[in-house]
Amino acid sequence: MIDLHTHTFFSDGTMVPAELIRRAETKGLRGIALTDHADPSNLELILERLVPAIKELNRHHRIVALAGVELTHVPPKLIASLAERARSLGAQVVVVHGETIVEPVEPGTNQAAIEARVDVLAHPGLLTLEQARLAARNGVLLELSARQGHCLANGLVARLAREAGARLVVDSDAHASRDLIDRATAEKVALGAGVRQEELAALFANADRFLAGVAGL
Ligand SMILES: [Zn+2]
Ligand SMILES: [Zn+2]
Repeated sequence: MIDLHTHTFFSDGTMVPAELIRRAETKGLRGIALTDHADPSNLELILERLVPAIKELNRHHRIVALAGVELTHVPPKLIASLAERARSLGAQVVVVHGETIVEPVEPGTNQAAIEARVDVLAHPGLLTLEQARLAARNGVLLELSARQGHCLANGLVARLAREAGARLVVDSDAHASRDLIDRATAEKVALGAGVRQEELAALFANADRFLAGVAGL
């Protein structure tokens, strides 16, 4: 299991990165991306601290941690430039906080994230088929969320991804240790969203491939 969307106390999570990574390792995860909520005010702050810390911590764990951010409630017109800034600051994973149906995320956020070719569009909410097709072309991973509220549109996201040939990932969006999920739970989240048993292996291979590409494994 590889989780590409989690939070530490660099935003609204409860754990320092070291604890989150350790707890993920004990859950049996092979990889975890630390993706705190970011906007123009704190992008540098997070990545200047996180990137060197991750490098240091990774020398002492089997699990591979990745430094990232989740661009959150950023006006759609700023998403592409902020994603680029994140990468230039060393972000290995750029997640965008998509148009979840439980928050007033600005319409156009999903489209801007997909056009900007970010790595993961988190909890996309009421995604369209055209957007799923563009995500497939642009290599943007669409997220099935294990998080309460954000998970409400998982069924739609799974159906559109199948129809469009877009790739899915299952993420915890963990803010506290109890939110972390193991592979068995992630499989249930996927199956509950309508992913078929025979599609599971390919689904989880998406995150494997991402980690391999980023971490050079
Ligand atoms: Zn989010
Ligand atoms: Zn999140």
